[in-house]
Amino acid sequence: MNFQNSVHYYQEALQYIVGGVNSPSRSFKAVGGGAPVFMERGKGAYFWDVDGNRYIDYLAAYGPLIHGHGHPHIAKAIGRAAENGLLYGTPTKLEIDFAKMLRSAIPSLEKIRFVNSGTEAVMTTIRVARAFTKRNKIIKFAGCYHGHSDLVLVAAGSGPSTLGIPDSAGIPQSIANEVITVPFNDLGGLAEALQHWGHETAAVLVEPIVGNFGMVPPEPGFLQGVNELTHRYGALVIYDEVITAFRFHYGGAQDLLNVYPDMTALGKIIGGGLPIGAYGGRQEIMEQVAPLGPAYQAGTMAGNPASISAGIACLELLQEAGVYDRMDQLGRMLEEGLLATAKRYGHPVVINRIKGALTLYFGRTEPVRNYDDAQSTDGEQFGRFFKLMLEEGICLAPSKYEAWFVSTAHTEEDIQYTIQAADRAFAKLADQ
Ligand code: PMP
Repeated sequence: MNFQNSVHYYQEALQYIVGGVNSPSRSFKAVGGGAPVFMERGKGAYFWDVDGNRYIDYLAAYGPLIHGHGHPHIAKAIGRAAENGLLYGTPTKLEIDFAKMLRSAIPSLEKIRFVNSGTEAVMTTIRVARAFTKRNKIIKFAGCYHGHSDLVLVAAGSGPSTLGIPDSAGIPQSIANEVITVPFNDLGGLAEALQHWGHETAAVLVEPIVGNFGMVPPEPGFLQGVNELTHRYGALVIYDEVITAFRFHYGGAQDLLNVYPDMTALGKIIGGGLPIGAYGGRQEIMEQVAPLGPAYQAGTMAGNPASISAGIACLELLQEAGVYDRMDQLGRMLEEGLLATAKRYGHPVVINRIKGALTLYFGRTEPVRNYDDAQSTDGEQFGRFFKLMLEEGICLAPSKYEAWFVSTAHTEEDIQYTIQAADRAFAKLADQ
Protein backbone atom coordinates (compact mmCIF):
# COMPACT_ATOMS: atom_id res chain seq x y z
CA MET A 1 0.00 0.00 0.00
CA ASN A 2 1.24 3.45 -0.88
CA PHE A 3 0.91 6.29 1.65
CA GLN A 4 2.92 8.94 -0.16
CA ASN A 5 0.23 11.63 -0.22
CA SER A 6 -0.44 11.14 3.50
CA VAL A 7 3.28 11.52 4.17
CA HIS A 8 3.33 14.69 2.10
CA TYR A 9 0.29 16.20 3.82
CA TYR A 10 1.65 15.30 7.22
CA GLN A 11 4.85 17.20 6.48
CA GLU A 12 2.77 20.17 5.37
CA ALA A 13 0.40 19.93 8.34
CA LEU A 14 3.36 19.98 10.72
CA GLN A 15 4.19 23.46 9.46
CA TYR A 16 0.81 24.89 10.40
CA ILE A 17 -0.95 22.68 12.92
CA VAL A 18 0.68 21.79 16.18
CA GLY A 19 1.95 18.23 15.88
CA GLY A 20 0.15 18.02 12.52
CA VAL A 21 -3.06 16.88 14.22
CA ASN A 22 -6.01 18.54 15.89
CA SER A 23 -6.31 15.87 18.56
CA PRO A 24 -3.25 14.04 19.93
CA SER A 25 -4.92 10.64 19.72
CA ARG A 26 -4.80 10.95 15.91
CA SER A 27 -1.00 10.94 15.86
CA PHE A 28 0.85 7.67 15.34
CA LYS A 29 3.19 8.37 18.25
CA ALA A 30 1.82 5.48 20.30
CA VAL A 31 2.19 2.97 17.45
CA GLY A 32 5.81 3.56 16.52
CA GLY A 33 5.49 6.97 14.83
CA GLY A 34 5.21 7.96 11.18
CA ALA A 35 2.64 9.92 9.24
CA PRO A 36 -0.96 9.38 10.23
CA VAL A 37 -3.24 8.48 7.34
CA PHE A 38 -5.13 11.46 5.93
CA MET A 39 -8.68 10.48 5.06
CA GLU A 40 -10.64 12.08 2.27
CA ARG A 41 -14.11 10.55 2.07
CA GLY A 42 -16.20 7.82 3.63
CA LYS A 43 -19.25 5.75 2.76
CA GLY A 44 -20.85 3.21 5.04
CA ALA A 45 -18.27 0.98 6.72
CA TYR A 46 -15.44 2.23 4.49
CA PHE A 47 -13.30 5.30 4.11
CA TRP A 48 -10.63 6.25 1.59
CA ASP A 49 -7.39 8.08 2.17
CA VAL A 50 -5.67 10.73 0.05
CA ASP A 51 -3.72 7.98 -1.78
CA GLY A 52 -6.93 6.23 -2.82
CA ASN A 53 -6.54 3.33 -0.35
CA ARG A 54 -9.77 1.93 1.04
CA TYR A 55 -10.14 0.86 4.67
CA ILE A 56 -12.79 -0.94 6.68
CA ASP A 57 -13.36 1.48 9.51
CA TYR A 58 -13.37 0.27 13.13
CA LEU A 59 -12.24 3.64 14.47
CA ALA A 60 -15.71 5.14 13.95
CA ALA A 61 -14.15 8.54 14.67
CA TYR A 62 -13.59 7.30 18.27
CA GLY A 63 -17.22 6.33 18.68
CA PRO A 64 -19.76 8.69 17.14
CA LEU A 65 -20.18 6.95 13.76
CA ILE A 66 -22.45 4.09 14.79
CA HIS A 67 -24.00 4.13 11.29
CA GLY A 68 -20.71 4.44 9.46
CA HIS A 69 -20.00 7.27 7.04
CA GLY A 70 -22.44 9.45 5.12
CA HIS A 71 -25.68 7.76 6.07
CA PRO A 72 -28.32 9.37 3.81
CA HIS A 73 -30.88 9.79 6.61
CA ILE A 74 -28.38 11.74 8.72
CA ALA A 75 -26.95 13.65 5.74
CA LYS A 76 -30.45 14.77 4.70
CA ALA A 77 -31.26 15.94 8.23
CA ILE A 78 -28.07 18.02 8.30
CA GLY A 79 -28.79 19.41 4.83
CA ARG A 80 -32.28 20.49 5.91
CA ALA A 81 -30.84 22.22 8.97
CA ALA A 82 -28.28 24.05 6.81
CA GLU A 83 -30.92 25.20 4.35
CA ASN A 84 -33.09 26.54 7.15
CA GLY A 85 -30.30 28.74 8.50
CA LEU A 86 -27.72 27.16 10.73
CA LEU A 87 -28.12 29.05 13.95
CA TYR A 88 -30.62 31.37 15.58
CA GLY A 89 -29.42 32.02 19.10
CA THR A 90 -32.97 31.32 20.25
CA PRO A 91 -34.67 28.16 21.51
CA THR A 92 -36.03 25.80 18.86
CA LYS A 93 -38.63 23.04 18.86
CA LEU A 94 -35.94 20.62 17.67
CA GLU A 95 -34.26 20.89 21.06
CA ILE A 96 -37.49 19.84 22.80
CA ASP A 97 -37.94 16.93 20.39
CA PHE A 98 -34.43 15.70 21.09
CA ALA A 99 -34.63 16.24 24.86
CA LYS A 100 -37.85 14.18 24.89
CA MET A 101 -36.21 11.45 22.86
CA LEU A 102 -33.25 11.29 25.22
CA ARG A 103 -35.34 11.30 28.37
CA SER A 104 -37.55 8.51 27.14
CA ALA A 105 -34.43 6.47 26.34
CA ILE A 106 -32.56 7.40 29.55
CA PRO A 107 -35.18 8.25 32.19
CA SER A 108 -32.65 9.48 34.77
CA LEU A 109 -32.23 12.58 32.58
CA GLU A 110 -35.13 14.37 34.26
CA LYS A 111 -33.73 17.65 32.99
CA ILE A 112 -31.10 18.06 30.32
CA ARG A 113 -28.83 20.72 28.79
CA PHE A 114 -27.11 20.49 25.42
CA VAL A 115 -23.47 21.54 25.05
CA ASN A 116 -20.89 21.05 22.30
CA SER A 117 -18.58 18.26 23.40
CA GLY A 118 -18.13 15.46 25.86
CA THR A 119 -15.49 17.55 27.62
CA GLU A 120 -17.98 20.33 28.28
CA ALA A 121 -20.64 17.90 29.38
CA VAL A 122 -18.48 16.24 32.04
CA MET A 123 -16.89 19.51 33.12
CA THR A 124 -20.32 20.94 33.78
CA THR A 125 -21.68 17.93 35.65
CA ILE A 126 -18.81 18.44 38.08
CA ARG A 127 -19.54 22.14 38.49
CA VAL A 128 -23.21 21.44 39.08
CA ALA A 129 -22.45 18.65 41.55
CA ARG A 130 -20.16 21.01 43.43
CA ALA A 131 -22.83 23.69 43.45
CA PHE A 132 -25.45 21.24 44.69
CA THR A 133 -23.36 19.61 47.42
CA LYS A 134 -21.30 22.72 48.28
CA ARG A 135 -18.22 20.49 48.32
CA ASN A 136 -15.11 20.56 46.14
CA LYS A 137 -13.47 17.18 45.77
CA ILE A 138 -14.22 14.58 43.15
CA ILE A 139 -13.25 10.94 43.00
CA LYS A 140 -12.53 9.33 39.66
CA PHE A 141 -11.20 5.98 38.55
CA ALA A 142 -7.64 5.61 37.32
CA GLY A 143 -7.40 5.44 33.55
CA CYS A 144 -10.91 6.73 32.89
CA TYR A 145 -10.83 9.66 30.46
CA HIS A 146 -13.42 12.35 30.88
CA GLY A 147 -12.32 15.00 28.41
CA HIS A 148 -9.62 17.62 28.77
CA SER A 149 -10.96 19.98 31.41
CA ASP A 150 -8.48 20.65 34.19
CA LEU A 151 -10.06 18.66 36.95
CA VAL A 152 -10.32 15.36 35.13
CA LEU A 153 -6.89 15.32 33.46
CA VAL A 154 -5.49 13.37 36.36
CA ALA A 155 -4.74 9.68 35.72
CA ALA A 156 -6.74 10.25 32.60
CA GLY A 157 -6.68 7.16 30.43
CA SER A 158 -6.44 6.79 26.70
CA GLY A 159 -4.97 9.97 25.17
CA PRO A 160 -2.74 11.15 28.02
CA SER A 161 -1.67 7.71 29.20
CA THR A 162 -0.91 6.67 25.66
CA LEU A 163 1.44 9.62 25.43
CA GLY A 164 2.83 9.00 28.90
CA ILE A 165 1.50 12.21 30.44
CA PRO A 166 -0.48 11.12 33.47
CA ASP A 167 -1.09 14.69 34.62
CA SER A 168 -1.05 17.40 31.99
CA ALA A 169 1.24 20.38 32.35
CA GLY A 170 -0.65 23.60 32.90
CA ILE A 171 -2.90 22.21 35.60
CA PRO A 172 -2.20 23.77 38.99
CA GLN A 173 -1.39 21.38 41.80
CA SER A 174 -4.19 23.05 43.76
CA ILE A 175 -6.67 21.69 41.20
CA ALA A 176 -5.10 18.24 41.07
CA ASN A 177 -5.40 18.19 44.87
CA GLU A 178 -9.18 18.21 44.51
CA VAL A 179 -9.16 14.91 42.61
CA ILE A 180 -8.77 11.50 44.15
CA THR A 181 -8.25 8.49 41.93
CA VAL A 182 -8.99 4.89 42.78
CA PRO A 183 -8.70 1.73 40.66
CA PHE A 184 -11.74 0.73 38.61
CA ASN A 185 -13.58 -2.36 39.86
CA ASP A 186 -12.16 -1.81 43.36
CA LEU A 187 -14.90 -1.06 45.89
CA GLY A 188 -12.42 -1.41 48.75
CA GLY A 189 -10.32 1.39 47.24
CA LEU A 190 -13.39 3.58 46.86
CA ALA A 191 -14.50 2.88 50.44
CA GLU A 192 -11.06 3.89 51.69
CA ALA A 193 -11.04 7.11 49.65
CA LEU A 194 -14.49 7.98 50.95
CA GLN A 195 -13.45 7.27 54.53
CA HIS A 196 -10.75 9.92 54.15
CA TRP A 197 -12.48 12.46 51.96
CA GLY A 198 -16.16 11.44 51.74
CA HIS A 199 -17.49 14.48 53.57
CA GLU A 200 -15.58 16.82 51.23
CA THR A 201 -16.52 14.90 48.08
CA ALA A 202 -19.03 16.41 45.67
CA ALA A 203 -19.16 13.48 43.27
CA VAL A 204 -17.80 10.14 42.20
CA LEU A 205 -17.32 10.17 38.44
CA VAL A 206 -17.23 6.94 36.50
CA GLU A 207 -17.51 5.49 33.02
CA PRO A 208 -20.10 2.78 33.80
CA ILE A 209 -18.47 0.63 31.14
CA VAL A 210 -14.93 1.84 30.55
CA GLY A 211 -13.96 2.74 27.00
CA ASN A 212 -10.69 4.50 27.67
CA PHE A 213 -8.25 1.79 28.68
CA GLY A 214 -9.95 -0.50 26.24
CA MET A 215 -13.46 -1.83 26.79
CA VAL A 216 -13.67 -2.86 30.42
CA PRO A 217 -16.97 -3.89 31.99
CA PRO A 218 -17.81 -3.30 35.63
CA GLU A 219 -17.74 -6.48 37.67
CA PRO A 220 -21.10 -7.64 39.04
CA GLY A 221 -22.12 -5.39 41.93
CA PHE A 222 -19.42 -2.77 41.29
CA LEU A 223 -21.71 0.02 40.12
CA GLN A 224 -24.30 -0.81 42.77
CA GLY A 225 -21.50 -0.56 45.34
CA VAL A 226 -20.38 2.80 43.90
CA ASN A 227 -23.92 4.14 44.35
CA GLU A 228 -24.32 2.80 47.84
CA LEU A 229 -20.95 4.01 49.15
CA THR A 230 -21.15 7.40 47.47
CA HIS A 231 -24.65 8.16 48.67
CA ARG A 232 -23.72 7.13 52.19
CA TYR A 233 -21.48 10.21 52.26
CA GLY A 234 -24.02 12.52 50.62
CA ALA A 235 -22.00 12.76 47.40
CA LEU A 236 -23.42 12.38 43.89
CA VAL A 237 -22.74 9.68 41.33
CA ILE A 238 -21.98 10.96 37.83
CA TYR A 239 -21.88 8.57 34.89
CA ASP A 240 -19.78 9.58 31.94
CA GLU A 241 -21.72 7.93 29.13
CA VAL A 242 -20.00 9.87 26.35
CA ILE A 243 -18.89 6.58 24.77
CA THR A 244 -21.46 4.19 26.20
CA ALA A 245 -24.82 5.89 25.58
CA PHE A 246 -26.60 4.26 22.61
CA ARG A 247 -23.51 2.16 21.91
CA PHE A 248 -24.73 -1.18 23.27
CA HIS A 249 -28.48 -0.71 23.28
CA TYR A 250 -31.05 2.03 22.81
CA GLY A 251 -30.36 3.99 26.00
CA GLY A 252 -27.44 4.34 28.35
CA ALA A 253 -25.20 1.73 29.92
CA GLN A 254 -27.25 2.57 33.00
CA ASP A 255 -30.38 1.05 31.45
CA LEU A 256 -28.45 -1.91 30.15
CA LEU A 257 -27.00 -2.59 33.60
CA ASN A 258 -29.99 -1.37 35.60
CA VAL A 259 -28.05 1.00 37.88
CA TYR A 260 -28.80 4.69 37.82
CA PRO A 261 -26.64 7.73 38.59
CA ASP A 262 -27.64 11.16 39.85
CA MET A 263 -26.20 12.85 36.77
CA THR A 264 -25.07 11.73 33.33
CA ALA A 265 -22.80 13.21 30.67
CA LEU A 266 -23.39 12.34 27.00
CA GLY A 267 -21.68 13.03 23.68
CA LYS A 268 -20.42 11.25 20.54
CA ILE A 269 -23.27 9.05 19.16
CA ILE A 270 -26.00 11.51 20.16
CA GLY A 271 -24.57 14.00 17.64
CA GLY A 272 -24.72 11.61 14.68
CA GLY A 273 -21.20 12.76 13.69
CA LEU A 274 -21.56 16.47 14.46
CA PRO A 275 -20.20 18.16 17.60
CA ILE A 276 -22.42 17.72 20.63
CA GLY A 277 -22.50 16.99 24.31
CA ALA A 278 -25.31 16.91 26.83
CA TYR A 279 -25.66 16.56 30.54
CA GLY A 280 -28.61 15.96 32.77
CA GLY A 281 -29.94 14.28 35.83
CA ARG A 282 -32.23 14.66 38.78
CA GLN A 283 -34.39 17.74 38.56
CA GLU A 284 -33.40 19.22 41.94
CA ILE A 285 -29.73 18.95 40.99
CA MET A 286 -30.20 20.37 37.50
CA GLU A 287 -32.08 23.32 38.98
CA GLN A 288 -28.69 24.56 40.15
CA VAL A 289 -27.99 25.55 36.54
CA ALA A 290 -28.48 29.14 35.28
CA PRO A 291 -30.94 30.72 34.64
CA LEU A 292 -32.71 28.79 37.43
CA GLY A 293 -29.76 28.47 39.77
CA PRO A 294 -26.30 29.81 40.62
CA ALA A 295 -24.15 27.37 38.56
CA TYR A 296 -23.28 29.03 35.26
CA GLN A 297 -22.98 27.27 31.93
CA ALA A 298 -23.69 28.67 28.48
CA GLY A 299 -22.88 28.16 24.80
CA THR A 300 -23.27 30.05 21.52
CA MET A 301 -23.45 26.77 19.60
CA ALA A 302 -25.26 24.78 22.28
CA GLY A 303 -28.31 22.98 20.89
CA ASN A 304 -27.54 24.13 17.34
CA PRO A 305 -30.06 22.82 14.81
CA ALA A 306 -27.53 20.89 12.71
CA SER A 307 -26.14 18.85 15.61
CA ILE A 308 -29.60 18.27 17.06
CA SER A 309 -31.02 17.22 13.67
CA ALA A 310 -28.13 14.83 13.09
CA GLY A 311 -28.62 13.40 16.58
CA ILE A 312 -32.34 12.85 16.09
CA ALA A 313 -31.73 11.15 12.74
CA CYS A 314 -29.01 8.96 14.24
CA LEU A 315 -31.25 7.84 17.09
CA GLU A 316 -34.19 7.22 14.74
CA LEU A 317 -32.02 4.75 12.88
CA LEU A 318 -31.10 3.06 16.16
CA GLN A 319 -34.79 2.48 16.93
CA GLU A 320 -35.04 0.00 14.06
CA ALA A 321 -35.61 -3.55 15.25
CA GLY A 322 -32.57 -5.76 15.55
CA VAL A 323 -29.79 -3.21 15.00
CA TYR A 324 -28.11 -3.85 18.34
CA ASP A 325 -28.44 -7.63 18.10
CA ARG A 326 -26.76 -7.45 14.73
CA MET A 327 -23.83 -5.40 16.02
CA ASP A 328 -23.53 -7.86 18.92
CA GLN A 329 -23.46 -10.83 16.51
CA LEU A 330 -20.86 -9.19 14.30
CA GLY A 331 -18.83 -8.30 17.39
CA ARG A 332 -18.93 -11.92 18.52
CA MET A 333 -17.90 -13.14 15.08
CA LEU A 334 -14.99 -10.71 15.08
CA GLU A 335 -13.92 -11.71 18.59
CA GLU A 336 -14.02 -15.44 17.83
CA GLY A 337 -12.21 -15.04 14.53
CA LEU A 338 -9.47 -12.83 15.96
CA LEU A 339 -8.87 -15.14 18.92
CA ALA A 340 -8.71 -18.23 16.73
CA THR A 341 -6.19 -16.73 14.35
CA ALA A 342 -4.03 -15.25 17.14
CA LYS A 343 -3.94 -18.68 18.75
CA ARG A 344 -2.94 -20.33 15.47
CA TYR A 345 0.26 -18.26 15.45
CA GLY A 346 0.85 -18.55 19.19
CA HIS A 347 0.23 -14.91 20.13
CA PRO A 348 -0.88 -14.44 23.72
CA VAL A 349 -3.86 -12.07 23.45
CA VAL A 350 -7.12 -11.42 25.21
CA ILE A 351 -10.24 -9.66 23.99
CA ASN A 352 -12.55 -7.63 26.19
CA ARG A 353 -15.83 -7.31 24.30
CA ILE A 354 -19.11 -5.69 25.11
CA LYS A 355 -21.52 -6.35 22.24
CA GLY A 356 -20.27 -4.51 19.14
CA ALA A 357 -17.24 -2.93 20.85
CA LEU A 358 -14.04 -4.77 21.67
CA THR A 359 -10.39 -4.32 22.54
CA LEU A 360 -7.68 -6.77 21.54
CA TYR A 361 -4.86 -6.67 24.10
CA PHE A 362 -1.45 -8.19 23.38
CA GLY A 363 0.81 -9.96 25.86
CA ARG A 364 -1.96 -10.98 28.22
CA THR A 365 -4.49 -13.82 28.29
CA GLU A 366 -6.58 -12.84 31.33
CA PRO A 367 -9.36 -10.27 30.88
CA VAL A 368 -8.38 -6.68 31.64
CA ARG A 369 -10.31 -5.40 34.66
CA ASN A 370 -8.53 -2.15 35.53
CA TYR A 371 -6.00 0.38 34.30
CA ASP A 372 -2.98 -1.44 35.74
CA ASP A 373 -3.96 -4.52 33.76
CA ALA A 374 -4.32 -2.46 30.59
CA GLN A 375 -0.98 -0.75 31.12
CA SER A 376 0.74 -4.11 31.51
CA THR A 377 -0.29 -5.18 27.99
CA ASP A 378 2.16 -5.07 25.08
CA GLY A 379 1.86 -1.72 23.28
CA GLU A 380 4.80 -2.37 20.93
CA GLN A 381 3.25 -5.55 19.62
CA PHE A 382 -0.07 -3.73 19.26
CA GLY A 383 1.72 -0.97 17.31
CA ARG A 384 3.17 -3.50 14.87
CA PHE A 385 -0.21 -5.21 14.48
CA PHE A 386 -1.91 -1.83 13.94
CA LYS A 387 0.44 -0.99 11.05
CA LEU A 388 0.11 -4.44 9.47
CA MET A 389 -3.68 -4.12 9.62
CA LEU A 390 -3.51 -0.68 8.05
CA GLU A 391 -1.53 -2.21 5.16
CA GLU A 392 -4.36 -4.71 4.84
CA GLY A 393 -6.97 -1.95 4.58
CA ILE A 394 -8.28 -2.22 8.13
CA CYS A 395 -8.31 0.97 10.19
CA LEU A 396 -8.11 0.65 13.97
CA ALA A 397 -7.44 3.37 16.52
CA PRO A 398 -3.68 3.98 16.86
CA SER A 399 -3.52 3.07 20.55
CA LYS A 400 -3.61 -0.10 22.60
CA TYR A 401 -6.12 1.63 24.91
CA GLU A 402 -8.91 2.12 22.39
CA ALA A 403 -11.84 0.05 21.16
CA TRP A 404 -12.79 -1.40 17.81
CA PHE A 405 -16.34 -0.29 17.04
CA VAL A 406 -18.67 -2.35 14.87
CA SER A 407 -21.30 -0.14 13.19
CA THR A 408 -24.67 -0.80 11.62
CA ALA A 409 -22.90 -0.44 8.25
CA HIS A 410 -20.53 -3.40 8.71
CA THR A 411 -21.48 -6.68 7.02
CA GLU A 412 -20.53 -10.30 7.68
CA GLU A 413 -18.25 -10.05 4.63
CA ASP A 414 -16.45 -7.09 6.21
CA ILE A 415 -15.91 -9.09 9.38
CA GLN A 416 -14.71 -12.16 7.45
CA TYR A 417 -12.34 -10.01 5.44
CA THR A 418 -11.04 -8.44 8.65
CA ILE A 419 -10.37 -11.85 10.19
CA GLN A 420 -8.50 -12.96 7.06
CA ALA A 421 -6.48 -9.74 7.16
CA ALA A 422 -5.73 -10.34 10.86
CA ASP A 423 -4.60 -13.86 9.99
CA ARG A 424 -2.03 -12.45 7.57
CA ALA A 425 -1.02 -9.77 10.10
CA PHE A 426 -0.59 -12.31 12.92
CA ALA A 427 1.47 -14.54 10.60
CA LYS A 428 3.81 -11.65 9.76
CA LEU A 429 3.99 -10.68 13.42
CA ALA A 430 5.10 -14.19 14.31
CA ASP A 431 7.93 -13.89 11.74
CA GLN A 432 9.14 -10.49 12.93
N1 PMP B 1 -15.73 11.19 28.24
C1 PMP B 1 -15.41 10.04 27.65
C2 PMP B 1 -15.76 8.74 28.30
C3 PMP B 1 -14.75 10.06 26.41
O1 PMP B 1 -14.39 8.89 25.84
C4 PMP B 1 -14.45 11.30 25.80
C5 PMP B 1 -13.75 11.38 24.45
N2 PMP B 1 -13.09 10.29 24.00
C6 PMP B 1 -14.82 12.46 26.45
C7 PMP B 1 -15.46 12.38 27.67
C8 PMP B 1 -14.54 13.81 25.86
O2 PMP B 1 -15.38 14.03 24.77
P1 PMP B 1 -15.00 15.11 23.64
O3 PMP B 1 -13.81 14.56 22.93
O4 PMP B 1 -16.24 15.20 22.80
O5 PMP B 1 -14.71 16.38 24.34
